[in-house]
Amino acid sequence: MMDSITSGPLYQNTITNLIDAGKVINLNRNVLERLKRPRRALTVSIPVKMDDGKVHVFTGHRVQHNQTLGPYKGGLRYHPSVDLSEVAALAALMTFKCSLLNLPLGGAKGGVPVDPGQLSKNELESLTRRFTSELSPFIGPDKDIPAPDVGTDSQVMAWMLDTYSLESGYSQTGVVTGKPVEIGGSAGRESATGLGVVYVAQRALETQKKKISGATMAVQGFGKVGMHAAIEAYALGGRVVAVSDVSGGLLNERGINIPDLVRYVRENKVVKGFPDAVAISNEDVLELDVDVLAPCALDGVITEKNCASIKAKIIVEGANGPTTHEANTYLSEKGVMVIPDILANGGGVVVSYFEWVQDLVWLFWNEEEVRNKLREVMFGSFDKVWAFSQKEKVNLRLAAMATSLMRLEKAMLLRGQAW
Ligand code: NAD
Repeated sequence: MMDSITSGPLYQNTITNLIDAGKVINLNRNVLERLKRPRRALTVSIPVKMDDGKVHVFTGHRVQHNQTLGPYKGGLRYHPSVDLSEVAALAALMTFKCSLLNLPLGGAKGGVPVDPGQLSKNELESLTRRFTSELSPFIGPDKDIPAPDVGTDSQVMAWMLDTYSLESGYSQTGVVTGKPVEIGGSAGRESATGLGVVYVAQRALETQKKKISGATMAVQGFGKVGMHAAIEAYALGGRVVAVSDVSGGLLNERGINIPDLVRYVRENKVVKGFPDAVAISNEDVLELDVDVLAPCALDGVITEKNCASIKAKIIVEGANGPTTHEANTYLSEKGVMVIPDILANGGGVVVSYFEWVQDLVWLFWNEEEVRNKLREVMFGSFDKVWAFSQKEKVNLRLAAMATSLMRLEKAMLLRGQAW
């Protein structure tokens, strides 16, 4: 039966993938039934006194999907399109991601339907602090650890940490990850998801006897994930021919100078107008003939409508849920390697896990150590999924989900959660 949790397209997509992967490994029926729904969904009202003196009441969600493997873990999103069903789907994806990456963490997600660009800094801080207060009985270093996602950043995490710590009476740095390094953040967290995208692309190219150096790449989205993916690909000798953001796309067949573009975006906020490239549409960026396409912006951008026009040989899902179920099936059957979100963008939660561990023991690593450990996890996870897909002759999404479910199933049965 459909309800406000299950009704959204991303939730439906996620459940379809779960059921399909369950069939591949003959998943215990009771485990499947439990994983189809989140454990807890909390919706709160967030009154904020706006700069004009009027109170505006925002709505906030936090969905805790599963905590069999450890405390709930997942980002907080501030974006106008946030709704309960989308948050619930993203929470479920976190459960599957943490299990796949062998982390001792469960899955959660939160969000507020708001455009943070329309709020002043004071309003954003008030919103964040009040939302944290409402969530505080349910979050904590041993319970549920939020992190940045679309529309939130290290400053938002710093306000959350401060509010939670004030209420606890002492500083609890482990309550959030993705915070500034000055207050317990990890070296390398900001670039982690983008680095992870490139590490799995590197491994995928190797299966096609290619190298990242010289490979062509198109990146949709130039935010926390897309920008760092482009920076790392460029640093490793990749040719990033196209990028896009909310303002539109850019193309330069010879390769965009990414450090120049980063400087341009820091000054101008968007990629539009960058001189050394021609303007193309966001849709065109997805349909270029490149070795690697990295959708790193929104969900539902590769669909049954445009999948026949996709020419990339490898798609690395930097974003959560960018490919619909139908498009994934079509592309996989056509021989396109679609590296699913729970593997491809796992670098963020891997370094979030490193950050949480560092906070718990008050001992910090340098950036090189973080990168080396991250590369090891991403390479190892890709290899595990690739081996499963080759052995069972299934696409990478099914292989990733099945690999994740095998660990979860074992843990749930051991804990007596599924009889
Ligand atoms: P962000 O807000 O930092 O960046 C989003 C980017 O997408 C911006 O450049 C924005 O301009 C662009 N964008 C928005 N609408 C667009 C459109 N219609 N076409 C093209 N570009 C558009 O967000 P982020 O943290 O980079 O997250 C992006 C995706 O990656 C989300 O799906 C998120 O859930 C996922 N993700 C993020 C992390 C992380 O560590 N930040 C980790 C895992 C997954």
